[in-house]
Amino acid sequence: MTPAGLVWSAPAHYDHRGDRPCALCGRPTPLRSHAREPAHKVCAEQWAADHPGTDRFVSDPPAGRRRTHA
Ligand SMILES: [Zn+2]
Repeated sequence: MTPAGLVWSAPAHYDHRGDRPCALCGRPTPLRSHAREPAHKVCAEQWAADHPGTDRFVSDPPAGRRRTHA
């Protein structure tokens, strides 16, 4: 069993304004999903593993194909 590791290296995944309760476990986290949903990376990975075929939590595009949006 290999959990699908998410790649969240883009700075947009880190909210410098502070912690918010994780949408999945409720504990504070500075991390955000692509949809700006507060979530720990490990929680998002677990959720994605439990919900195959969904795109609530996805990895960053490979380097060189990064989307540039504020
Ligand atoms: Zn969490």
